[in-house]
Amino acid sequence: MQLLIAEDERRVRDFVARGLKEEGFVVHEAATGENALALLSAETFDLVLLDWMLPGFSGFEVLQQLRARGDMTPVLMLTARDAVDDRALALNAGADDYLVKPFAFTELIARVRAILRRSAGRATPLLTYGDLTLDPAARRVTRAGTEIRLTAKEFSLLQFLLENAGRVVSRTRILESVWEQDFENYSNVVEVYVRYLRAKVDAPFATKLIQTVRGVGYSLRHEA
Ligand code: CA
Repeated sequence: MQLLIAEDERRVRDFVARGLKEEGFVVHEAATGENALALLSAETFDLVLLDWMLPGFSGFEVLQQLRARGDMTPVLMLTARDAVDDRALALNAGADDYLVKPFAFTELIARVRAILRRSAGRATPLLTYGDLTLDPAARRVTRAGTEIRLTAKEFSLLQFLLENAGRVVSRTRILESVWEQDFENYSNVVEVYVRYLRAKVDAPFATKLIQTVRGVGYSLRHEA
């Protein structure tokens, strides 16, 4: 899930971006309205956190421009104002929700998930393989109807394997996609997380889905 945070206050932006990354989201950052609009033209985001008071185009103007060009990316407005008029203005202009600063991160993440759940029916398909199902928006995994609780990284790794189900993915590709940084080649972080995933996703079930392809990487598929 790709999120954009448009906020000129560095401290708030860092705090929100770090928290969302820890929750397993991919987070892009913009410090001005122009920058946010440029990123929104270039990429598809699952949700935008949009500060009302931005230099250049305000968050409100960014929202208006987005909707005017038919872009229905979900928007959560962040605002220091709590005037009822402003909230109504934001919602009428097509914001999905708003949050008044200062806010607790737990409230922010609850709002983000609620918006993503609502938009899930419109946009995000479930990922399934055999009896395994992953809901990217609700961040929920089930196997044979039983819910499996995963950490943020385990979830991202399983999502990546499901997106590539039936194909072999190398450790390097997994590192680049799930960790988004260059680890030393010697790092065994992928092996460690595959082990965690297997304990939760495969161990309790008769059919094993996560296969090791020797010397290459991993593949999500039924055993040959
Ligand atoms: Ca601001």
